[in-house]
Amino acid sequence: MIAKVIVDIALDREFDYAVPPELEPAVRVGVRVHVPFGRRYASGYVVGLAAHSSHPRLRPIAAVAGDRPYLSDRLIELARWMSEYYCAPVEQAIRAVLPGAIRRRGARFKTCAWVRLTEAARPERDDKLSDRQRRIVERLRAGPAPLADLRRELGVSAAPVRALQKKGWVELAERTVERAPLAGREILRTEPLTLTPAQAQALAAVTQRIDGGNGGVVLLYGVTGSGKTEVYLQAIRHTLARGGGAIVLVPEIALTPQTVERFHSRFGNRVAVLHSHLSEGERHDEWHRIRDGGADIVVGARSAVFAPVPRLGLIVVDEEHEPTYKQEEAPRYSARDVAVMRGRLERCAVVLGSATPSLESWHNARSGKYALACLPERADNRRMPAVRIVDLRLETERQGRGAIFSRELLEAMRLRLERREQTILFLNRRGYATTLLCPRCGHVARCDHCSVSCTYHRTDETMRCHICGRSRPAPVRCPQCQDPAFKFTGVGTQKVEAAAAKCFPQARIARIDADVTTRRDAYDRIFGEFRSGRTDILIGTQMIAKGLHFPNVTLVGVIYADLSLHLPDFRAGERTFQLLAQVAGRAGRGEVAGEVIVQTYTPFHAAVQAARRQDYPAFCDQEEEFRRELNYPPFSHLVCLTLRGASEERVRYCATALAQRLAAAVRPDVTVAEASPAPLARAKGLYRYQVLMRCRSTRAMTEPLKQTLSAFKLPSDVALAVDVDALNLL
Ligand code: ADP
Ligand code: ZN
Repeated sequence: MIAKVIVDIALDREFDYAVPPELEPAVRVGVRVHVPFGRRYASGYVVGLAAHSSHPRLRPIAAVAGDRPYLSDRLIELARWMSEYYCAPVEQAIRAVLPGAIRRRGARFKTCAWVRLTEAARPERDDKLSDRQRRIVERLRAGPAPLADLRRELGVSAAPVRALQKKGWVELAERTVERAPLAGREILRTEPLTLTPAQAQALAAVTQRIDGGNGGVVLLYGVTGSGKTEVYLQAIRHTLARGGGAIVLVPEIALTPQTVERFHSRFGNRVAVLHSHLSEGERHDEWHRIRDGGADIVVGARSAVFAPVPRLGLIVVDEEHEPTYKQEEAPRYSARDVAVMRGRLERCAVVLGSATPSLESWHNARSGKYALACLPERADNRRMPAVRIVDLRLETERQGRGAIFSRELLEAMRLRLERREQTILFLNRRGYATTLLCPRCGHVARCDHCSVSCTYHRTDETMRCHICGRSRPAPVRCPQCQDPAFKFTGVGTQKVEAAAAKCFPQARIARIDADVTTRRDAYDRIFGEFRSGRTDILIGTQMIAKGLHFPNVTLVGVIYADLSLHLPDFRAGERTFQLLAQVAGRAGRGEVAGEVIVQTYTPFHAAVQAARRQDYPAFCDQEEEFRRELNYPPFSHLVCLTLRGASEERVRYCATALAQRLAAAVRPDVTVAEASPAPLARAKGLYRYQVLMRCRSTRAMTEPLKQTLSAFKLPSDVALAVDVDALNLL
């Protein structure tokens, strides 16, 4: 027998190895093996078996690690598809599928010593024992215990236990300790709610696909608060009743204890969680618990799409429009699209849920590729919040430049404080001021390594680059002309915080953005305090826009809606609408109706107007027209090639040559744009150029690309990133 092995060293190939007869029973697809590789040994995974090989002399597999496969046939198939579709080496795709906590050597279960009594420990012989030994034996009569617990509880050393072991009174054994992130958390079990007619209809669309056995995708379009989560919960229950398991993907940023709790309190310990804040050990144990059937519901971020659920019946992708589902390093996969593909391979149902679906998914639903289920109203009969647009141009005329709060917003905030209701202020930019400008010579503080200006952070008096993270002390005078009259322009969350504190000295104000939440517990603490009403005003970046449920929030203020509109990206309008709709959805989730005030310099922009009316379908219709005309997604696929290097000359040269070769190699319906500097022209000291390709068929771009790249060797100081279905065009 021959085994095809992917070796965990970066080489885009499978290698044939001979399977020695004594290993034949153990070698199966998906098992981990050790193989001789060059002059060393390497570990790898068996991805296929064959009777023959075209290679004359094969080396034998040295050993099989573990007794069960790490990868199912379908997960291997999924990895192969990813490698092909996203132009990434196979073993890189395998690495994405199998978490590091599992792959790494030395990854194993944690064990500890347990002590239990033997037959010999008869009470009538107790007088033969020392005082300490007797206390230990008495404690063990209640049942076996970990050695560490005995030592702690009874204040003894290991010596009396060893002595008892020598006498034959006790036995010691190693037992596994599970590192479970949810263990010990108190939960209040919840029962399924009676569904609204719209929810029932949506659930039926999903269960029909679960029962049909052939899978299928349902786009669940439901406004914020419409009860999508209840539909997920009941669809999961349906899956479990049929003996299947489920995966629920949530954007990392929305994976709060609040979210996990909703699943945990419905299904208890059958829920496993997977996200980046777990320890390596917890991830290892959760993975094994899932593979071995100890948990059949997985709630997790992006990479949980690869969870080894044995009989997968359902995949839910919540907030499916979220750009964070796209992995920004190779393999640059979209977890949403991988979920759809996995659903096809496993023949299981897939639900994509959102209040503001991506145009891609909307298009697929319109064209009949996905089923569409709609929840047009809030589940609890609460009204959608009223959205008011404030024209900042008029406000500037009234108050002069630099006012952060319009009079409308200020008045609304004052009212909330008076009524003891809560306010959320949203601005998608952290820091204090975005630009440090010298009014005399025009000097702007820029990052030396990136083509952006630095942001002033007042908390520690630094200038920071948000691209590379470098910081330096804020200057006291202009570095160019030595004039001390610096001007800070542009507003960040810190400035909003300072302004709010000045206007309302008595208010309790908190800020949440990447600067304060480098640690998970800070994030949980700030949200906890807001939830329990100890904060009046919460200021934050998009972190506050996701899936949070605060019943006492009756006002949401968007400080500056135009930020995302000015991004050099054809999705700017879509992103702005999505962000505004998500933020607005935070208001009025309790007894009192909510109000949203959106401040903007472009009040008549389509995205802003659509957000005011909260009319997603109308926005899509309009946006689709624009996309169709320019042949952008969803009417085409996009491949973005980014070349990076320290020498601008060489990067430009390579990008131009690559674009020319590609243009000559592709079929006529593929558009290859000319090489041009990326919008972010320099980052971390490296120059960046882009080549964009567009076509209806991805394969029509990736096939010629792979061929071209195999003949076109880039110099070692120019790196290339291939991004299929790119979302970030910076
Ligand atoms: P979404 O996930 O669409 O944002 P949620 O699932 O958070 O919506 O639901 C919003 C609120 O409505 C929650 O408090 C939830 O408990 C409640 N809810 C959902 N479905 C129902 C229902 N059928 N009957 C009563 N309340 C419901
Ligand atoms: Zn920088």
